[in-house]
Amino acid sequence: MAQCLVCGGEKKPGTTIYSVDLGDGVVVMRSVPAQICSQCGEEWIENTTARTLEKSWNMPKRHHQVGVLAFS
Ligand SMILES: [Zn+2]
Repeated sequence: MAQCLVCGGEKKPGTTIYSVDLGDGVVVMRSVPAQICSQCGEEWIENTTARTLEKSWNMPKRHHQVGVLAFS
């Protein structure tokens, strides 16, 4: 069973909102799959998911101050 590294609670699969500041804009990604601690609420995003997120940053970076994407 996956354990939270912060409090030792149980991590459960869910989705979260993930944002990154690119310097010339901010990108917010919704519905990002993550493991969420049922005890303290800490969120853990898989490395493979994080890599997919990084690729997606390029799209709204061009013209928008703030971009909102849905992870899929
Ligand atoms: Zn926890």
